Amino acid sequence: MTDKIKRAVKRLPFAMNADRAYSLKRRVLHLLFPNRCPICSCIIGCDDRFCGECRSKLNSFEGSFNIPETDSFTAAFVYDKEVSPAVILMKNGVCGNAPYALGGELAERLISDGIPDNIDIIVPVPMYRADVWSRSYNQAELIAKEVGRMLGKPCVTGAVVKIRKTADQKRLDHIKRRYNLKGAFAVTDTGAVSGRRILLIDDVCTTGSTLAEIAALLKANGTASVHCAACCKTPLAAKK
Ligand SMILES: [Zn+2]
Repeated sequence: MTDKIKRAVKRLPFAMNADRAYSLKRRVLHLLFPNRCPICSCIIGCDDRFCGECRSKLNSFEGSFNIPETDSFTAAFVYDKEVSPAVILMKNGVCGNAPYALGGELAERLISDGIPDNIDIIVPVPMYRADVWSRSYNQAELIAKEVGRMLGKPCVTGAVVKIRKTADQKRLDHIKRRYNLKGAFAVTDTGAVSGRRILLIDDVCTTGSTLAEIAALLKANGTASVHCAACCKTPLAAKK
């Protein structure tokens, strides 16, 4: 298709770009299943992330957190009782508006930190296949796709996979968490990650063990840099 034809097609009344198509999809879904605040469940506007009251209670993540093997870390919120209902909703298999809300907030924080200029692609922290089947989705992937949509960066899934089940990280201390993850991930498409500047995304970051393990794996496969981001970071004082 020539440039002249492409410009003509864009002027057609029925033609729409990806953003308009996405907006239309949200409006149609809102008519069928009204958009809800992922924290208190009250009905909110089609494009809203949270209700005003819940949003006003959320605590932004401040300060710095260094993770081995990574080039930066960004988080939108402190993981506390105010934001946890939205995260738990996703972990319980009822994602609703949570990926849109949390992903949108994270994208805005990444933009204000200047991260988009330093990345080529976005990679979500992968889940073990059986866990994805039981939940029906990987919440990190849903968040990464929303961040990618807002930043205009491709979200690459499947290039890094989790190849074995691991013990629940919450039950382990910092050292055992890292040992628990050894060899749990694999790069299946070196060409997709080699030489690239990657933004690695998870829903919640606690000790950073998972992000460090995947970052080390990516760099061993030629990745140029690994910037990390999570919607929420547990309070720094609680780090073990
Ligand atoms: Zn609310």
